[in-house]
Amino acid sequence: MSDNSSRPNSPIGARDLESCFNLLPVMTGIVEVTKDDILHIRDTEATARFFGKTSEEIREKWSSELGSDQASMNIWINNFQKAKASQMPHQFTIAYPSKNIIFEATVSYVGPGGEGRDRFTYILNDVTKNLRENSKLKGQLESLFANTPLGLAQFDRDHCYLNINDALSKVNGVSKEDTIGKTLRDLFPDAADQQGAIIDKVFETREHFQTELTIPKPTNPSEMGHWVLGFYPIVIQDKVDSVGGYILEITEQRKVEAELKKALEIRDDFLSIASHELRTPLTSLRIWIQSLQYQIKDNGKDIDPKKLQEFFTRAFRQTNKLNRLIDDMLDISRIQTGILGIEKEEFDLKDLILESKARFDESFLKETGCVIRLLEISSVRGSWDKMRIEQVVSNLLTNALRYGNKKEVTMSLTQEDDMVTITVEDRGIGIAPEDIERIFERFERIGNVNESSGLGLGLFISRQIVLAHGGTISVDSEISKGSAFKVCLPL
Ligand code: ADP
Repeated sequence: MSDNSSRPNSPIGARDLESCFNLLPVMTGIVEVTKDDILHIRDTEATARFFGKTSEEIREKWSSELGSDQASMNIWINNFQKAKASQMPHQFTIAYPSKNIIFEATVSYVGPGGEGRDRFTYILNDVTKNLRENSKLKGQLESLFANTPLGLAQFDRDHCYLNINDALSKVNGVSKEDTIGKTLRDLFPDAADQQGAIIDKVFETREHFQTELTIPKPTNPSEMGHWVLGFYPIVIQDKVDSVGGYILEITEQRKVEAELKKALEIRDDFLSIASHELRTPLTSLRIWIQSLQYQIKDNGKDIDPKKLQEFFTRAFRQTNKLNRLIDDMLDISRIQTGILGIEKEEFDLKDLILESKARFDESFLKETGCVIRLLEISSVRGSWDKMRIEQVVSNLLTNALRYGNKKEVTMSLTQEDDMVTITVEDRGIGIAPEDIERIFERFERIGNVNESSGLGLGLFISRQIVLAHGGTISVDSEISKGSAFKVCLPL
């Protein structure tokens, strides 16, 4: 270094330049070309390494001698000729599959060489990694296009399909082969005007457009489907090259939304009915308690024991009603959260029927004017949730007495094979055919809703209990003739 600094203008010899050239970390050099071979005049060590040699070893050697195959040499020679013809540096890509390498080559014509040959320079850039990455990226993009659940299409200015993916071909019910090259009008004449106008607008404004469609499903026109449909500009080098279209089916989401909306409505109905129904017995109770309080204030001398008895009977009935409403509400929330647990135990259904009948006290029967008569009651032992089945029977019996029109109510218990059937039949007001299914739904109360009505939950809860036992509940009814409710339970 100190030597160099003391001789700043020391001349650089040809040897210096040559060794400097040799050591350039680039594959470059000077060659002369015949019609079928290439003569290496000077190459860098980097080029020589490609042949597994030193630069000295390949100097003045023919490519064919260094092991190059004729096909590769022909590509080179062909491109050298192009550079000579254009008198400009010429670029091309050449792959050496056996060496797993791809070059981007730039060749320039220098002038005449020895023995009538043409002389060229070349410089090589190893683009293997870039190209691999590009082809990986291309593969990824292709897979992204092919495998997305979004139906995708690419349109030109004539509304012609340039490309579509499998998802779109499924939505449209038209194969890829039968779509590409066709126009919107060829395939969907009904939608062509509207969607064609949107495509034109996207070409013109470069703005994204999105809308929702509710139309019969192309694959099954008897069913309506919901879709999100959108168009967007595909901009290449600041020009709208084409328009991309996407479509996504949202029929299921819309269904879920509708169910959710229904559930919210049911909840709101429930809250308003429940609060109203809870208030009614509470108001009666309050009035009775207040009037009793006034009477006691007057020393209680004039309290009529008969009236007091009546008060307690009424108060008891109102608290019973409150109890039943609250139990129903709790059951509903259990059913909604899916935890209406069934705890089975072994017992005789005959005992349950007899106990249920006995529980309806004289006064209730007197008030409704009905009598309960037992028909065939067989002894049937099995395993069910006793409390829950009692709830079902009691509900059917309450309804039969309530809507029984002061006439006889009969009950029977029969067994056939491995099925047991409880029947509660009244001869009362009956149910219209169009209401039969409805009464088993939540909050369904038919006709006049009066003081004795519940929340319209009794039959809904009863059905859930019976279903949880693997059984069925049904009704045979005729207006003004009466109703027969049948509960079938597996043994
Ligand atoms: P609620 O708790 O109001 O009694 P239910 O679910 O038990 O509700 O009954 C729903 C509706 O079905 C009642 O409001 C009534 O209109 C009708 N219903 C039930 N049982 C009978 C019956 N035996 N005869 C006529 N209508 C009935």
